Amino acid sequence: MKRWQTHLQNSITTSKQLTSRFALPLADIDRVADIYPMRINPYYLSLIKQPGDALWRQVVPDLQELYDTVCIDDPLNEENLSPVANLVHKYPDRALFLVSNQCAVYCRFCTRKRKVGTKSMHINFETINRGIKYITETPAIKDVLVSGGDPLLLADSRLEYILASLRAIKHVEIIRIGSRVPCTLPMRVTKKLAALIKRYHPVYINTHFNHPDEITPEAAEACSRLADAGIPLGNQTVLLKGINDDPIIIKDLLYKLLRIRVKPYYLFQTDMTKGTDHFRVSVEKGLEIMQSLIGHVSGMAVPTFAVDAPGGGGKIPLLPNYIKHMGRQLVFRNYCGVTCIYDNPNDNTEMRLIHGEKTAHRC
Ligand SMILES: *Cc1c(COP(=O)(O)O)cnc(C)c1O
Repeated sequence: MKRWQTHLQNSITTSKQLTSRFALPLADIDRVADIYPMRINPYYLSLIKQPGDALWRQVVPDLQELYDTVCIDDPLNEENLSPVANLVHKYPDRALFLVSNQCAVYCRFCTRKRKVGTKSMHINFETINRGIKYITETPAIKDVLVSGGDPLLLADSRLEYILASLRAIKHVEIIRIGSRVPCTLPMRVTKKLAALIKRYHPVYINTHFNHPDEITPEAAEACSRLADAGIPLGNQTVLLKGINDDPIIIKDLLYKLLRIRVKPYYLFQTDMTKGTDHFRVSVEKGLEIMQSLIGHVSGMAVPTFAVDAPGGGGKIPLLPNYIKHMGRQLVFRNYCGVTCIYDNPNDNTEMRLIHGEKTAHRC
């Protein structure tokens, strides 16, 4: 197997390279790629069966990206929630630390497509040190999400520097790495990498598979290496029109993830990121998919469906409605549509929480 660096170097970045493999006129691709970069490494390219399929659409530029008038550059308001560059501090006890501006492929639906892979995302040794300093000086932060870009595209030595620095901070209890590499460049997950991460436990990895065709023997091996190093693996899927907005495809994906020891964590409603409007499906579609999962498949396979609130409000879980209120009685509907009645004890808190009026804690 070729080294991961070779795969990355041989990535496709222009339409010419794509037309040499697929006999297609692809003139518009470069216009789009000039603004939102394209990178398709040979491994991910090899998984594409034909133009327009679910994997193609995730990575090949489309003219529609330039004609999005609905969405905005920074819908999650990350720039204003960054006390230092490349560190988003939105929830008091967690920080999102961006340590790389590169990815193994550039996803067309990327939430940070305004900057990932472009010159406008400045990440270097100094910005990383400033982030570490901020975390060191902010004792409320217990959980650091190392992300980017893709942190696992950093050289081992740089990644180790970051993990060691974070682990040395007393109040940082857990470290999470967000990486699409197990899906898009599994050969990056070398034995050496797994052994390196293992030295800084507890470390969790959340990866990102969107379609069952991405779960290959190579991806399985990468996940195995990480799981064998004691790293719990989660997955974040983005709901994407024409790619995975279908209960059968999502079910297949979720079971295949469990088979490779990856626990589905989030299913995301697509963010309102400029250039991605054509990927968005309605929230109702997502709820329909959740309803097809809950109770029908292993609870282990069911992710939390969530929308990341525009403006930076954080992730909001979305559930099909299973409850109706009839005074003190709650009428529940089960997964098959059968109703049952639950007599609710009268201690107020429960009802207030269900109605979302007051919560015990306000932030
Ligand atoms: C998603 C996110 C987190 C982590 O949220 P969890 O629900 O704990 O996974 C933290 N910070 C930011 C800015 C995020 O976008």
